[in-house]
Amino acid sequence: MSNSRIPGRNFLFVPGPTNIPDRILRAMNVVSEDHRSPKFPELTLPLFTQLKKVFKTESGQAFIFPASGTGGWEAAITNTLSPGDKVIAQRFGQFTHLWIDLAKRIGLDVIEQDEEWGTGNNPERIEETLKADKNHEIKAVFATHNETATGVTSDIGAVRKAIDNAKHPAMLFVDGVSSVGSLDFKQDEWGVDVAVSGSQKGFMLPAGLALLSVSQKALKAGETAKLHRAYFDFQDHVKANATGYFPYTPALPLLYGLRESLNVLFEEGLDQVYARHHHLAEGVRAAVAAWGLKPCAKESKWNSDTVTAILVPEGFDAAKVIEIAYKRYNLALGAGLSKVAGKVFRIGHLGDLNELMLLGAIAGAEMAMLDVGIPVTPGSGVAAAQAVYRANPILQA
Ligand code: PLP
Repeated sequence: MSNSRIPGRNFLFVPGPTNIPDRILRAMNVVSEDHRSPKFPELTLPLFTQLKKVFKTESGQAFIFPASGTGGWEAAITNTLSPGDKVIAQRFGQFTHLWIDLAKRIGLDVIEQDEEWGTGNNPERIEETLKADKNHEIKAVFATHNETATGVTSDIGAVRKAIDNAKHPAMLFVDGVSSVGSLDFKQDEWGVDVAVSGSQKGFMLPAGLALLSVSQKALKAGETAKLHRAYFDFQDHVKANATGYFPYTPALPLLYGLRESLNVLFEEGLDQVYARHHHLAEGVRAAVAAWGLKPCAKESKWNSDTVTAILVPEGFDAAKVIEIAYKRYNLALGAGLSKVAGKVFRIGHLGDLNELMLLGAIAGAEMAMLDVGIPVTPGSGVAAAQAVYRANPILQA
């Protein structure tokens, strides 16, 4: 068949950027306006209050930066730490690796702890390292709620407990780029000092906003922190945001989009959003099992409800599955990154999705695997996911 026109919508199943609901797209379709007008705070002030509800913090301060998640990492570090400060960071996937790399380039002394890819943060090791740090030289622990490269969710409550057990004053920084707005995030309960997220995943927006939530302890640490900061200076934002403004020209359409995104999340209800993500993920996991394949996550306790990385059998190239899915079936699957390149393909199941959309992705992945010769039973993954979805549908009749 000819490729001169590609009918229908592209099936976007990378784990971010995610599908943008039509109403959010429409909300971003705005004419330019004066971002210093007296009316502007009517748009912006509620954004900060609503964001805090998503991060689940009462006492924290929300920030909206024109950046992607990587900019959020940088903002977190430069506003709270000094050159040469020691931090603990565990590496178990490409994004934990990139955060470590950025921290080192900025000038931190990173205690790098490698964990097996397919596992996540290791609280016991964090506790041990902190207990050994009698002089409290370690200033922060970096944890990653959801490692998007391997489809692994870590227990941030357990990381908090490890810090408390060690009676250590280190701050806790959490990457929530592929979790906040999709998985329950409990900033205050977990004592998270800096939480970092981005607009293009659970918030169902284009990339372009780094969304942070910062504890009073981390804001205070900023008073003596000596790393250079300018564009991402928390204090410039604290001052301007207090009256609903920004220290520089904000990305206006994205702010309108964020308002609608928050409306969408609260209309569905955060608990329902999290339950839906779990339900959709369970269908994908059932499909993987029915194919006779394994997720990259080593044990079920690591399973992520926002993305599943699927290991292809020895001798097959996962990149080929992704290429065929895209070229033949207009389905975008997530690539394997770095250490797991060619070994896994990923199905992102976060954002504005429902059961039939997932069944389309599972069917497409199944066809692409068959096309490259992976011996899965045709229809097996779809049937297994259907059984999960029919047992407890999102919509109650
Ligand atoms: N952290 C995680 C867990 C991610 O998944 C990503 C991107 O996918 C990032 C950080 C980097 O975010 P960005 O690409 O928005 O800079």
